[in-house]
Amino acid sequence: MTKFSDLNLNPKVLKAVEEAGYETPTPIQAGAIPPALEGRDVLGIAQTGTGKTAGFTLPMLSLLARGRARARMPRSLVLCPTRELAAQVAENFDTYSKYLKLTRALLIGGVSFKEQEAIIDKGVDVLIATPGRLLDHFERGKLILSDVKIMVVDEADRMLDMGFIPDIERIFGLTPFTRQTFFFSATMASEIERITNTFLQNPERIEVARQATASETIKQEVVMFKPSRRDKADGEKRALLRAMIDGEGEKCTNAIIFCNRKTDVDIVAKSLKKYGYDAAPIHGDLDQSQRTRTLDGFRSGSLKLLVASDVAARGLDVPSVSHVFNFDVPGHPEDYVHRIGRTGRAGRDGKAITLCSTRDEKALDAVEKLIQKEIPRAENPLGNAPAAEEASEEEKPKRSSRSRSKKSDDAPAKDTPAKEPEAQDSKPQKSDDKPKSTSSRGGSSRRGKSDDNKTVGMGDHLPQFIALSFDQRRVS
Ligand code: AMP
Repeated sequence: MTKFSDLNLNPKVLKAVEEAGYETPTPIQAGAIPPALEGRDVLGIAQTGTGKTAGFTLPMLSLLARGRARARMPRSLVLCPTRELAAQVAENFDTYSKYLKLTRALLIGGVSFKEQEAIIDKGVDVLIATPGRLLDHFERGKLILSDVKIMVVDEADRMLDMGFIPDIERIFGLTPFTRQTFFFSATMASEIERITNTFLQNPERIEVARQATASETIKQEVVMFKPSRRDKADGEKRALLRAMIDGEGEKCTNAIIFCNRKTDVDIVAKSLKKYGYDAAPIHGDLDQSQRTRTLDGFRSGSLKLLVASDVAARGLDVPSVSHVFNFDVPGHPEDYVHRIGRTGRAGRDGKAITLCSTRDEKALDAVEKLIQKEIPRAENPLGNAPAAEEASEEEKPKRSSRSRSKKSDDAPAKDTPAKEPEAQDSKPQKSDDKPKSTSSRGGSSRRGKSDDNKTVGMGDHLPQFIALSFDQRRVS
C-alpha cells in the first residue's frame, strides 16, 4: 500500500499531513498526487468524501513551496461552486501549509471587496474563489490572472448545475495557456467532457467509486406520508418529521434535515425551534456571517439540527453526523446520494430517513433506480391518522430527545402548526452563488440543455448511474 512518505511531497507538507493524523493516501490522493507533482494536468472523477481536497491541495502546496507571489498576481487559483466549499478548501490549505510561508486569500460573496482587495494587493500564493466573485474582482481591475501557474476547478458538475460553466470558460481564458490544471467532478456530463477536452492537456484521469456504492455504513429508510387533508399537508408533514426525530431518540446525536425549497428550510427550522428542538437553517439567502455561525455551531456540536438546502450543504465536511432526514425526496436523484453521504462518514454508522409524500413517489423511483436498490419502507410513526396524532404531538412532546435544546424541558409551545408560517413560494430553489448576468460572462449553458445520453471516455469504469438515460437521471 502506498504511504504518504512515498509520494514525494515537500517535507513540510508531509509533516503537516502526518500531524493531521492521516496515515495512508486515499485512492484519489494516491492516483492524483504523483502526476500532479510531475507537472501534469489531472482529471479526477470523484465526489466529496473521497479525500479529493487533499488530493489537489498537497501537490499544489509542494509545487508552490518555492517562489514568491507578486502583488495582485496570484500564483494559483482554486474555483469552488459555493462559499461554504471555498471556505472548507481554505481550511485544508491552512492545515497543510502550516510549516510553509505561503499566503492565501478567499474571495467569496458576502465579504467586503475592500478587505479582499487589500489582501490581493499584497500578493497571494493561493486564491480560493467562487467564479462570480472572482470575475467581479477581475472586472474592477484589481486582479491579474496572467501569473497563474496552477488552476483547480472543484465540483465541476455542481458548477454546471449552477450555470457557472461560461464563467469557468472565461476564467480559463484569462489564465496562461501554460498553466497546470486540476479538474474534479463527480460525474462526466457531455458538457464537462467538452470543457476538459478544451482546457486540459493530456490529463491523468483518475476515477474513484461513488460513495453511495462504497458506503455500506448508511442505513436507509423511507417513511411514506399521506396527509389527512390537502390543506393540512404541510403541518402534518412537519409533525411527522418531529416524530421521526423523536423515534431515533438518543441515537440521533445530530442531524442534517434537507428540504427541496429554501422557503421550507426556513419554515421547518422555525417550526422545530418552536417545538423546542435545537435547530437552525442554512441556505443561500442568509447572510454570510449567519451561515458561518450556524455551520461552526453544527461542526462544534453546539447546534444539533441543521436544516439545509442542497446547495448550501453541498460538499460540507462534518465528520460525525448521526442522521440525515430528507424532508422531501430530492428532484435530482443524485442529490439523494450527496445528501445521505453527509452521514456514515469515515467508517462510522449513519442513518438516512426520507419522508416521501404521494407526489414524491416518482422522484423516489428515480432515486431507487440510481442507487439500484429498494430503500426499505419504515412504519409511519404517526400511524395512519396523522392529523389526529399531530394534535397530541403538538400538545405534549412525548419524549425528551438529545436533539432538543434546553427549551424542550419547558412547557411545550402552545402555537399549533396551523399558525406556522407557510411557504410563499413553491418554486424550486435557485443556486446560492448565481452568476449575476450571463451577458457579461458569455452565453448560458445550464445543465440539461447540452446533456446527451452518450458518455465518452469512461473506459471500463462506467458507473451505473451514468449509463442511465437523461430522463432516468433527471426528474423534475
Ligand atoms: P474531501 O473528499 O476532500 O471532502 O475529504 C473528506 C474527508 O476525508 C475529510 O474529513 C478529510 O479530512 C478526510 N481525509 C482526507 N484525506 C484523508 C486520508 N488520507 N486519510 C483519512 N482521512 C482523510
